Amino acid sequence: MVIELNAGYAGMGKPPVAKGSGGDFASRAQTDTAHGKYRTIGGWVERPLDLQRELEGEVNADVIIVGAGFAGLNAAIALAQQGAKVVVIEREFAGFGASGRNAGYLAGGSGAKFDLFLDRIGREQTQKIVDYFEAGVSHVEGMLDEHGIDCDYIDSGLIRAGIHPVHEANIRENIRKAADFGIKMQFLDWAAMRARGIPPAFLFGSYIKRGGTLDPGKYVMGLRRVALEAGVMLYENTEVQSWTTGRIVEVRTPRGIARAQFMVLATNAYTPQLGLLENKVVPMRVSAIETEPLSPEQLAQLRWPNREGIVTAHRKMESHRLTARNTLVTTTKRVRYAFGSRTPNIPDSSAYLALIRAFRERFPTLKELTVRACWSGYISVAGDALPVVGATGERQNVFYAAGCSGHGVGAQSLVGRLLAERIRGEEPALLAGLHHKTPTTLPEPLRWCAVNGAMSMLGRMDDKVDRAARAAAACDGRQASS
Ligand SMILES: Cc1cc2nc3c(=O)[nH]c(=O)nc-3n(C[C@H](O)[C@H](O)[C@H](O)COP(=O)(O)OP(=O)(O)OC[C@H]3O[C@@H](n4cnc5c(N)ncnc54)[C@H](O)[C@@H]3O)c2cc1C
Repeated sequence: MVIELNAGYAGMGKPPVAKGSGGDFASRAQTDTAHGKYRTIGGWVERPLDLQRELEGEVNADVIIVGAGFAGLNAAIALAQQGAKVVVIEREFAGFGASGRNAGYLAGGSGAKFDLFLDRIGREQTQKIVDYFEAGVSHVEGMLDEHGIDCDYIDSGLIRAGIHPVHEANIRENIRKAADFGIKMQFLDWAAMRARGIPPAFLFGSYIKRGGTLDPGKYVMGLRRVALEAGVMLYENTEVQSWTTGRIVEVRTPRGIARAQFMVLATNAYTPQLGLLENKVVPMRVSAIETEPLSPEQLAQLRWPNREGIVTAHRKMESHRLTARNTLVTTTKRVRYAFGSRTPNIPDSSAYLALIRAFRERFPTLKELTVRACWSGYISVAGDALPVVGATGERQNVFYAAGCSGHGVGAQSLVGRLLAERIRGEEPALLAGLHHKTPTTLPEPLRWCAVNGAMSMLGRMDDKVDRAARAAAACDGRQASS
């Protein structure tokens, strides 16, 4: 899913402020976030018991890949399957980045924000971008099948839902635009949503059959297993500190050196910190909460039998999904940018508070359900919300893949394989279709002001819709009880 910039950012790690929330909600939310629920490594993965050893000394390979998320591991597997000697260098452990922290929506072109790039790149290339995102879904489904990765994937399809009548025009417009590019979505009115057992706070929506939800932790750990079995040399707990380019790329880590003819920087939101794409992409912090498991009675009462992943039509969406462990995961709502493109791994209490409030408002019958975990991660976003994929260095042998916005389960997985093909000397059409001029970001402090100013504005627009939905729900409640 592409996450639009939004939300007022005023600082990282501030204490929770329950501004504008009801007293009961506020105290519950404070309790939920205060009791050690924050997880520094996200909600889906644990530090592996077989943590691979740090790089010490010197190693030579055909390809060095930096970063072991969806992109890096997919590239590594594809290269190793072709007999290449591959070194993967990961600062923490595979899945530590966004790949182990996301909502697990496997979405194709339906989430594309056409408004942000259609005029800029034109119809023909927009079709290529849509085809690329669509191919991401097939690629991941193929990887799960081919390698027997069990990550609780259900191809339930996805719903983009309105929580207030004001969302309807936007949903219908998106269905129309997507149809122009061959994406078939169906409008679900109130009755159709109820027939699917979708919780009533989601009034109507668009349904796309393609894609679904998975457990991203199991997916990324499955990729890690496949990579190790394929002979990839994975060095975890190893930070790339610098590199030199030339015919041979030389990478330096605290206690080692790796050399290869090619390098892939699969570091996504962390790439600007490595001195690349600083003026092309910005890391944006996205947060998530997960509830305790629903009881069988709560599940039965909730219904939602097909477990479609739901996103809302807010300017900056909410996502709500059931997991295979019968918990509910809610993400996004607040997206933040830290000055200087930093990516501190610290809690974001006000974002968790906003998510808890959204969860309680969309699922009022689950008011006894408490939050078991909250976490944050970083996506990388370009000004036109398009992927930023290319090559650099005097030999053009250093590849990078960032800027996938919130769309990386499919797209970053696919781009790993495409970069592997490119390194093998092929020219994949899907990769060529991504080539475009990425707008340059403003320098600091203007960037901070512009990004967070835009987020504040969009956040205020969403807050207005939320207030209207709240008032309508209160009115319905009064009518029901009178
Ligand atoms: C809360 C949240 C919800 C999301 N929901 C969805 C969703 O539902 N669907 C979807 O499609 N996308 C979603 N996304 C986006 C998606 O998770 C990412 O686009 C995707 O995981 C990016 O994969 P990656 O491999 O490119 O980067 P990452 O997974 O971020 O991997 C980069 C790796 O590089 C490592 N690294 C960084 N610097 C160095 C260094 N100097 N040396 C060595 N290693 C380094 C990091 O430790 C990290 O492991 C979400 C993201 C977040 C945060």
